[in-house]
Amino acid sequence: MYRFIPQYSQEEMLRIQEDGLRWTVLHAFARSPQYRDKFREAGVDPRDVRSLDDVGILPLTTGEDLRLGYPLPLLSVPESAVVRVHASSGTTGKRKILAYSRKDVDTFALQMARCFEMAGLTPRDRVQIAVGYGLWTAGAGFQLGCEKFGALAIPVGAGNLDIHLQMLTDLGSTCLCSTASMALLMGEEVQRRGLAGGVRLRTAIFGAEGHSLKMRRAFERALGIGESFDIGGMTEMYGPGSALECRAHEGLHYWGDLFLVEILDPATLMPVAPGETGEMVVTSLCKEASPLIRYRTRDLCRLLPSPCSCGCSMPRHDHILGRSDDMIIFRGVNVYPGQIADVLQDFPELGSEYHIHLSRERGRDFMRLRVERAPGAGAGGDAALRAQVAEKLRSRVLVAAEVETTEPGALPRSFGKSLRVTDTRL
Ligand code: ZN
Repeated sequence: MYRFIPQYSQEEMLRIQEDGLRWTVLHAFARSPQYRDKFREAGVDPRDVRSLDDVGILPLTTGEDLRLGYPLPLLSVPESAVVRVHASSGTTGKRKILAYSRKDVDTFALQMARCFEMAGLTPRDRVQIAVGYGLWTAGAGFQLGCEKFGALAIPVGAGNLDIHLQMLTDLGSTCLCSTASMALLMGEEVQRRGLAGGVRLRTAIFGAEGHSLKMRRAFERALGIGESFDIGGMTEMYGPGSALECRAHEGLHYWGDLFLVEILDPATLMPVAPGETGEMVVTSLCKEASPLIRYRTRDLCRLLPSPCSCGCSMPRHDHILGRSDDMIIFRGVNVYPGQIADVLQDFPELGSEYHIHLSRERGRDFMRLRVERAPGAGAGGDAALRAQVAEKLRSRVLVAAEVETTEPGALPRSFGKSLRVTDTRL
């Protein structure tokens, strides 16, 4: 039923993954001094990796390795075989630059073409690309994939609202590719300028930042979109499009024939039980110029091991929950602020802002969660609400917390990353 997304039996997928893993390990060891040093340091002979069960003996690769190898880290082909570089901003210090061979650029186009196909587009669709072009992977990726898929690409780029609105109405774009905030901004502007009647959008593919379900419904409504799709991706694994939500909207399918996903406990670096949340660690299976071997993405996620109701055989992971750097260990349980935000999502009486305070009292860890009431919600039912939130936290996140509700706007605001956790246990 798909042109770009192959259907594999479990045995076929396993064989592709094992062949890809063996090839990647031998290729990196033979061609990259950086990988060779890492393997030797870990006492690993590449020939010891025979099946997927052996992946755990390989050393992990981190952002620090990308920094050490700057400007062309993990390079495993001659420089003459590199046809392109892309870079990510990197939150500290130097950018992460990744090299692409001709084949890598083609694979990048393929992974993005698969996303358009999975989102139900056809070659008659007009795709308005509202993400950054240049060194970033985003613009280039959406463009490559759209052209490979055969739809019409409208490469507007990030920002520039007036041109976006003009293209949206004059060309009748049917698919918008942007961040969730950009989609919301455009939706609000379409409503404000009374353009909704001239907008033909059917779908949006959005990603690159955390979003809440409340936000997603808001931009879908404002843009008159029937369906939207969360997209996964990272510069290190070609760029955007390593995974896409399918039309069943039960998590994201990732391309198991292009890379492996492991989910590790970020504290112990051991695999978590199937379906449990941990840090996503990826290994590329056919990447030539800068292969990734057990690369720590720092993204928190869980695999969805059961088959998807959409019928696609590609494996699935859930929406990205947050960053592993944000993990809290509370009474022996790993807790991520994103899980708490998830619980709050179920309570319309509550706003989106919260703060966690961890302390040590009478020899025990103690968690106090302060949450703002939603604007307009009265304080009348607070006691019952607090008990319900505490109960949900206990059953879903496995933590006992004392819940406190505050007036809307009472918690500190930030333009950047909000401070969600204060830890005074030490
Ligand atoms: Zn599916």
